[in-house]
Amino acid sequence: MNDILLLKQGEIVLKGLNRRVFEDKLVSNVRRRMAHVGNFRVYAAQSTVYVEPLDDGADMEAAFEAARQIFGFVAVVRAAACPKDPDAVFETAREYLAADFAAARSFKVETKRSDKSYPMTSIQLSQYVGGLLADAYPDVAVDVHDPELTVRVEIRENAAYVHSVPALGAGGMPVGSCGSAVSLLSGGIDSPVSTWMTAKRGVHIIPVHFFSFPYTSELAKQKVIDLARLLAPWCGRMTLEIVPFTHIQEEIRDKCPEEYFTVIMRRFMTRIAERIALQNRCGAIVTGESLGQVASQTMHALAVTQEPVKLPVLRPLICMDKREIIEIARKIGTFETSILPYEDCCTVFTPRHPRTKPRLEEVLEAEKPLDVEALVEEAVRQTESVLISK
Ligand code: ATP
Ligand code: MG
Repeated sequence: MNDILLLKQGEIVLKGLNRRVFEDKLVSNVRRRMAHVGNFRVYAAQSTVYVEPLDDGADMEAAFEAARQIFGFVAVVRAAACPKDPDAVFETAREYLAADFAAARSFKVETKRSDKSYPMTSIQLSQYVGGLLADAYPDVAVDVHDPELTVRVEIRENAAYVHSVPALGAGGMPVGSCGSAVSLLSGGIDSPVSTWMTAKRGVHIIPVHFFSFPYTSELAKQKVIDLARLLAPWCGRMTLEIVPFTHIQEEIRDKCPEEYFTVIMRRFMTRIAERIALQNRCGAIVTGESLGQVASQTMHALAVTQEPVKLPVLRPLICMDKREIIEIARKIGTFETSILPYEDCCTVFTPRHPRTKPRLEEVLEAEKPLDVEALVEEAVRQTESVLISK
């Protein structure tokens, strides 16, 4: 059987002149992902990316699952390819969908033709193939209004394709087609979701993690590496940057008033993130902040946190409730890892009474005893890069 994947392009079909650029990115992303599961020919035509196995060694099930995690497709279809001749279409449907026919009580055939020179209309072909299938499977009734099984036939330029239910694609834009951003990745529930949401809009991600050994353990670091690995099927290959944060936190603890610990610490995170972003030609900094979730996420605190940098700070979760964030975390497969009980550097030296409405002048005053530039420079220099690939 000529098993094939048809990946239906999403939003990029609306792109005008530079659509080719998006499509090329999409095809190269698919090639890279499919390389793990077999030899495939991957090409784009008619708003679809075709994934054709080149030999019997290809794992089609794995390819299908991988395709569902590639941003840029609205639907993912596993289909059988056959010649466009109506009898070949019938034979293919009969064989390829035998299990579906065994399970269904009713069916219909639905045809789409992108090859408009095809001698039969869509309705004629559906009727012809439907008639033969009704004879072949006499226990399954034809029901054109509400069938349990819809046999889909697509007549395209080079071949016909037969399949049943298309699966939902991941949506979004091809990763890498909308630039790069650093994404602050803690071990929590939120930041894997904000990272995923940004990648979904076509952004290549460089995750950045702040690590406060020995206040936070090797296990906490491993958890972040594991989270990045869970994100890699969606985000593609990434370099996780692990920034040593202990010295900065100790300096803040020793030299700054307690009520400003968190906001000053977060200003360091933003500065370091921007430094790493600029080194890697990134256009933005992404965080998992959500309005009002904690004292450091009030509007005042957010303003003070982003004050030291010029790059835009993207906060995909800003108006989402925890419940909504958790729903996505479950869907993308990061939730179970996120709730493992390892501490984050944000919970080290937390003030008993953090300022929820910090004023910038006061924070600048509180920061004065610190050699900000030297601390940032030292942290960036000692940053460890970990390659995360699928
Ligand atoms: P999360 O669930 O992602 O940990 P949170 O609700 O715990 O978020 P905070 O701890 O206040 O919120 O952090 C807000 C955001 O700051 C996080 O979503 C993340 O983007 C960033 N952040 C926090 N701690 C770290 C860290 N150790 N390394 C990198 N980024 C961090
Ligand atoms: Mg956190």
